[in-house]
Amino acid sequence: MSEGLWRKNLINIEPYVAGEQPASEDILKLNANENPYPPSPMVQRVIREFDAEGLKKYPSMDAAVLREAAAEYYGLKKENVFAGNGSDDVLAAAFRAFFNSDKPIVFPDITYSFYPVWCSLLNIPYRTFAVNEAFEINTEDYYAPNGGVVIPNPNAPTSVELGRDRITDILEHNRDCIVIIDEAYIDFGGQSSVELIKKYDNLVVTQTFSKSRSLAGMRIAAAFAAPELIAYLDAVKDSYNSYPVDSIASAAAAAALKDREYFEKTRRQIIRTRDSFAESLRGMGFKVLPSSTNFVFCTHPEFSARDIFEYARSRNIYIRYFDKPRIDNYLRITIGTDRQMNTLEQVLREFIIKE
Ligand code: PMP
Repeated sequence: MSEGLWRKNLINIEPYVAGEQPASEDILKLNANENPYPPSPMVQRVIREFDAEGLKKYPSMDAAVLREAAAEYYGLKKENVFAGNGSDDVLAAAFRAFFNSDKPIVFPDITYSFYPVWCSLLNIPYRTFAVNEAFEINTEDYYAPNGGVVIPNPNAPTSVELGRDRITDILEHNRDCIVIIDEAYIDFGGQSSVELIKKYDNLVVTQTFSKSRSLAGMRIAAAFAAPELIAYLDAVKDSYNSYPVDSIASAAAAAALKDREYFEKTRRQIIRTRDSFAESLRGMGFKVLPSSTNFVFCTHPEFSARDIFEYARSRNIYIRYFDKPRIDNYLRITIGTDRQMNTLEQVLREFIIKE
């Protein structure tokens, strides 16, 4: 009897690698684009006062509280909103629901590295288009026939935004396939395309509560689209997990949307910190891409990004380094508080003097 033949039936996949989550509290963690500020006090109150008795029941199948709050926030109908466990869950459902063509789907070569992972998991053919030297997306590449388009706006890890006119241009040239715009970082300076779902019935916009609403630990996100597309997302969801958003998460997310004042205050503070940190980096000789996100993407002409990453790590500061073609001399640095960025700045200055 031969042994271990069952192994040939196992999945062969290279999974997405997320930023490290160290257990130690002594580490300054600027590697996963998390928000340095706590969730809104209204969210904290909802969680504190949540009646645990209610957890004996399954949550609402359509996360109604969250969908209604998100619809109200954007002046849409509940039927325009889908909810899931973070945008990773929402995007995975969207890839399944919408990318079933023989033609490859298309996305930029430098982008969120989960896209090719879902393609291999779900057997979706794909092709990438190179962003230019400034890491900008060339919209004309996306005019060619394809099986679907997915573009993060702003892009990650580059932090570069694509203007709404350019998104519209892509939509105008892609009327026969689904276009997904992944707006994970939109609240840090970009212009949202949610409005465009009223005009384009093939557009899906995804947003997350992990970044601008400080709820990465809760896993909540939404997709906005025409009701017909939302129904397809629901059908996929109901085919693998009918209740992805739990009752506490749904209530907490709704509270986060209602506290507009806190949201504005914290996101503006992050934008201010980002802009002044980027200036300090430039002062040290770094080249910093124009960021519309809660992180910066930068490179130094004289020093290796890997060396800087390792030095910061030895000083208990985690930033992100990707050992990948075209970006292997770049660093992605999450924006924390002013104080945290000053700490990193000092360490970077130390590194430069030492070298
Ligand atoms: N899209 C992009 C571009 C991201 O960078 C991330 C964060 N890793 C996500 C989606 C997923 O975020 P979440 O699942 O926390 O909503």
